[in-house]
Amino acid sequence: MGIKGSSTAQIYFNDVKVPVENLLGKRGEGFRIALSILHMGRLKLGANVIGAAKKAINDSVKYANERKQFGVLISTFGALKHKMAEQVIRLFASESAVYRVSSDIDNLMKKMTVDCGDYGRASIEAISHYAVEAAILKVVGSEMLDFVADEAVQIHGGMGYSAEMDVERGYRDSRINRIFEGTNEINRLLVVDTAMKRAMKGEFDLFGEAEKLYSGLETITDNKINGESYFQEKSRYIKNFKNAILICIHGASKCFGKGLISEQEVLNNIAEMMMESYVSESLTLRVEKMSLTNGNVSLYKDMLDVNVFDTASIIRKSALEAIGSFSTPDSCTSLIKAIENLSRVECINVKEARRRIADKLIEDNTYKF
Ligand SMILES: Cc1cc2nc3c(=O)[nH]c(=O)nc-3n(C[C@H](O)[C@H](O)[C@H](O)COP(=O)(O)OP(=O)(O)OC[C@H]3O[C@@H](n4cnc5c(N)ncnc54)[C@H](O)[C@@H]3O)c2cc1C
Repeated sequence: MGIKGSSTAQIYFNDVKVPVENLLGKRGEGFRIALSILHMGRLKLGANVIGAAKKAINDSVKYANERKQFGVLISTFGALKHKMAEQVIRLFASESAVYRVSSDIDNLMKKMTVDCGDYGRASIEAISHYAVEAAILKVVGSEMLDFVADEAVQIHGGMGYSAEMDVERGYRDSRINRIFEGTNEINRLLVVDTAMKRAMKGEFDLFGEAEKLYSGLETITDNKINGESYFQEKSRYIKNFKNAILICIHGASKCFGKGLISEQEVLNNIAEMMMESYVSESLTLRVEKMSLTNGNVSLYKDMLDVNVFDTASIIRKSALEAIGSFSTPDSCTSLIKAIENLSRVECINVKEARRRIADKLIEDNTYKF
């Protein structure tokens, strides 16, 4: 279907003998090395799709700035500005998560190399430590590229369906990313399963925090503080989103116990909330950092505003779906009220925010964010 520059074939190993001197690593440690390679592959896929998405956005805006319909350039239409702004926002947000995880892994790798003196072992351990984040990057990145590539075809109209245009190839090439390096269904399950297993091992206190929230559902508010700054407000929203996740994890674990593993729809709801919150937090951290050095970051704040606004809807929808599957008539009302408070964000003019982002892209005629 796509990636025609990469040949794909099955290889079978039947009764293959491997000479002892060809053993990679130590005997019995192969699975750990293989898993680490999977994590690394997911991390790299998350980064890889960024370049492809930038190319698709450049193709989109160039075409929209040339093609005329009804006597005007199609880039002047609000519906197309919405598409191009969304392409930019989703790309920039995914990229923020990629930078964050890469930097976290680099830092841990350096520390572990100093601690154990073995770079190879430190790499495996550091990458494995960020297995959940690697799975998030893989799912978020591949779905971001599919969205961007699909809208690129749409912006080209009928020409987008023609094999002579680059966007047609981009659309086909994009599709594999949701399948290889572990399908997105498997990676979504991994996001929740790995985090819960780590919490059970005591690596962080997930269940204690969740229990506290669950026992005080009636007292949960949106935690709004008077006079909070722009970034304090965004951080509060993200903390609220995380609390909504904890409530769902606790409620689902209590209801299904060990059977939660078979409740993939609920695990998907929780994965969705974890992934979107992680990306929104990464974007917040990036824009806040930029604001300290870059002067005017108003367009990046527009991106953050739209992203957090959309994440709040996803949190609300996913949490309510999960609650529907595990709540009792007694707990339902207080759970819904808690989620409504935790997913509340101020109303903003997302239409104008998207238009400003699209106008900058259209003016530059290329992706320069
Ligand atoms: C172009 C291409 C290149 C590839 N390159 C490589 C490579 O270099 N190395 C390599 O090792 N592999 C490679 N693969 C294989 C690829 O990793 C697998 O195709 C992929 O992991 C999915 O496995 P599958 O095809 O067996 O699908 P299946 O496992 O049969 O999945 C079918 C569907 O069922 C879903 N599903 C399966 N199990 C579950 C579950 N437990 N819970 C919920 N849903 C589930 C899947 O998400 C999917 O939607 C490549 C594949 C392609 C197409």
